[in-house]
Amino acid sequence: MNLMSSPNAIEYRVGSGHDTHRLAAGYPLILGGVRIDFSKGLVGHSDADVVLHALTDALLGAAGLGDIGDAYPDTDPQWKGATSSIFLNGALDLLNPGRWKLVNVDVTLFAQEPKLGPVKAAIRENLAQLLSLPVDRVNVKAKTGERVGHIGRGEAISCSVIVLIQRSSEP
Ligand code: MG
Repeated sequence: MNLMSSPNAIEYRVGSGHDTHRLAAGYPLILGGVRIDFSKGLVGHSDADVVLHALTDALLGAAGLGDIGDAYPDTDPQWKGATSSIFLNGALDLLNPGRWKLVNVDVTLFAQEPKLGPVKAAIRENLAQLLSLPVDRVNVKAKTGERVGHIGRGEAISCSVIVLIQRSSEP
């Protein structure tokens, strides 16, 4: 059965994104657009916000639009030190022509340090605002690295994001 031939059928697509950045002293730690008070931060060409990078990739993936590196190459000097909400807004703009609307977002952060439990709610609220979604459609989870591997040794922070997007067969 072709769902798109049914009147008012809704088409759904899922997308996933994953990103990792190295932790080092002398850099700010920004996760989901929220500045976190910590002795180290993430190193990258832009502000190295792993949450917004993984979220941008998940949105592009759901819509079949490639990845963040296609749209914003890290060799391009104009993205040096860029606030990563620029990449997220760019991805959201790319979804508009296809009439895609975001249904929900599920974020998992992987960090041994700092403890992210106390900042999960702030990240969740900021993501909801950036995405113009109610807070109950955005979820943020935090895991440690169980003291093994690059996450567990505190060398890096990673983030995985899954999104669901939908569009109606009728404009
Ligand atoms: Mg990145």
